[in-house]
Amino acid sequence: MVTTPMTFVATAATAAQLGAEIVFADVEDATANIDPDSVASAITPSTRVVAAVDYAGQPADLDALLPIAHGAGALLLEDAAHSIGSVSRSRPVGSIADLTTFSFFPTKNLTTAEGGAVVSTDPALLERVRRFKLHGLVRDRDLQRHPDEGGWHQEVHEFGLNYRLPDVLAALGSSQLTRLERFKARRAAIFDRYVRELSDLDGIRLPARVDGIDPTWHLFALRVLDGRRREVYTAMRERGILVQVNYIPVYWHPVFEDLGYRRGMCPVAERFYAEELSLPMFADLTDDDQSRVIDALREILS
Ligand SMILES: *Cc1c(COP(=O)(O)O)cnc(C)c1O
Repeated sequence: MVTTPMTFVATAATAAQLGAEIVFADVEDATANIDPDSVASAITPSTRVVAAVDYAGQPADLDALLPIAHGAGALLLEDAAHSIGSVSRSRPVGSIADLTTFSFFPTKNLTTAEGGAVVSTDPALLERVRRFKLHGLVRDRDLQRHPDEGGWHQEVHEFGLNYRLPDVLAALGSSQLTRLERFKARRAAIFDRYVRELSDLDGIRLPARVDGIDPTWHLFALRVLDGRRREVYTAMRERGILVQVNYIPVYWHPVFEDLGYRRGMCPVAERFYAEELSLPMFADLTDDDQSRVIDALREILS
């Protein structure tokens, strides 16, 4: 699998657990999304999946990635844990890649407390996903190998696991879905205000926006220049402002170090990591609290 190092470890770990060899392609400097040119260099005929991540909510360059993946006989998987509700050139996330995965963890744009969802543009793939999440059980008699066994019969053709989302959590998700447009609008307003009120501040770089993309912003990923990221992180935390860093390059995790991955492989991602600082960004952030974040950052950097 070819994937990005600028993500939460799960994007690569899930494939590694299934025995995949993970190849990291570098990211674009502007968006921190996987760089199609780097994917084109990394891909081989044995690549089964290219996994992109919509970093901060801004969809990866799927129009460039799809032909590269399909040209090598691989599927394009979009890890849309950050980007539910985002729209790329009039197409909603979930309608473009072969497989799109969503996370509904509480910190994400929409939550079911725990859980997620997979969508696909390919009905056959979707059928495999449905079976996989139900222990691999085949209940449709027309599809069974031994349909005459009896009325009770169900059988397994491919191993699966229990990935069912409990009904109670699905109910929470249905309610959240009706609020998604409001969450998106509030996040956009927070994003725009950060841009407006920080644009004259020296020592930082604001996140780049791609034309034709209408994101549900998940992160406000600022870059702190001049080697001051750690200092700014600590000073903000001391003021009780819960900034974060998203993410250490995935192959820096000891589990990948132990497999022989070394620092320096993806220099653009490593530079991005060295400067990145995520400012508070969630639908319930009040105007007063956002003022505190902006004032604190100005004070620290002045
Ligand atoms: C949160 C997240 C995941 C993992 O989601 P879970 O719901 O915890 O499985 C995967 N990829 C990215 C990019 C994430 O942000």
